[in-house]
Amino acid sequence: MPSTATTSAPTTSQAYRAAVVHEFGAPLRVEQVPMRPLEPGQVRVRVEASGLCHTDIHAAHGDWPVKPVPPFIPGHEGVGVVTELGPAVSEVAVGDRVGMPWLGYACGTCDYCVSGWETLCLDQKNMGYSIDGGFGEYATAYARYVVKVPDGIDPLDAAPLTCAGVTTYKAVKLAATKAADLVAVFGVGGLGHLAVQYANIEGGRVVAVDITDEKLDLARDLGAEYTVNAAREDPVTRIQDLGGAQQAIATAVSPRGFEQAYRSLRRGGTLVLVGLPADNDIDLPIFETVLNGITIIGSIVGTRTDLRRVFDLHAAGKTRVIRESRTLDQVNAAIADVEAGKVAARIVFEP
Ligand code: NAD
Ligand code: ZN
Ligand code: ZN
Repeated sequence: MPSTATTSAPTTSQAYRAAVVHEFGAPLRVEQVPMRPLEPGQVRVRVEASGLCHTDIHAAHGDWPVKPVPPFIPGHEGVGVVTELGPAVSEVAVGDRVGMPWLGYACGTCDYCVSGWETLCLDQKNMGYSIDGGFGEYATAYARYVVKVPDGIDPLDAAPLTCAGVTTYKAVKLAATKAADLVAVFGVGGLGHLAVQYANIEGGRVVAVDITDEKLDLARDLGAEYTVNAAREDPVTRIQDLGGAQQAIATAVSPRGFEQAYRSLRRGGTLVLVGLPADNDIDLPIFETVLNGITIIGSIVGTRTDLRRVFDLHAAGKTRVIRESRTLDQVNAAIADVEAGKVAARIVFEP
């Protein structure tokens, strides 16, 4: 593979349109940004689809203790076709369709990287956070950390799988769901609608919790056995009446949802923390956690291997991605719709 092969890709003197965060909390600006020259190991990707994860909204708001530095381009569910290879790239070829996940780069040699925990690498860079992401017509990515999208997967499906999919696949894997386990999924948004499906694939029986009926209708459609509208009914009572959950996967953007998820567990149960609400604290009792033998796990995205499995499951027809398309110009309205809970599951931009 020649390391500098190009197609009709733009040269570095050109510009492309992207949605840029200039200031936390301010609307994103869709504008021309310069093409950066490719560094060794990088590729240029013409973006076909880019999902709007709630993490992008947290990034644009500066919600978390570790903040991105504006100006930056969000997006870590970018999927597109490689158009240009930087020096020393052998992992992908021009024309390959790839997903560009949150784990945009890792060192490859630390203890975490060599033990299957590259997602914990201290030298990692993150798409749409510490390096520019997928909310543009083009993106640059490190060839080692993109994941090829198998033929037959619609790029509009591949985009949400690149974060929401891999993250909940991993969360269910860490939860170690076994056949007939009751799995409580808190939050049926972009992440939760896939969590329901991965828990089902493991043989779990799912109780889905959200605060809007539309999300719960969707959860039932995707295989949830029970649903609870937490705006009307106490999910803890309801789930304990079912015997308590062996596992609870908390994806809701609300600390209250996490506390309810914890209290929905049966003895020996496992709580997997996945959502990252701006309000960073939850209140959990020590005594009950110890006496009831509760396991609490923090779960951050998934590895490249996990994402390959996610793509394979989708290619095999085992998962459904629920999404609606928007153009990049609609980015601010799209964010408002996600925050208002008006989106079926995922918005995907077609730049
Ligand atoms: P989303 O907005 O698509 O979905 C959130 C869902 O939670 C919505 O359906 C909403 O109605 C529901 N919800 C809100 N309050 C609730 C409550 N009190 N009880 C039950 N449900 C409630 O968001 P998303 O893209 O699915 O992301 C969810 C969270 O996960 C975000 O905080 C995001 O940053 C985080 N995230 C974490 C990882 C990770 O690796 N751990 C990866 C991606 C996203
Ligand atoms: Zn995400
Ligand atoms: Zn590392």
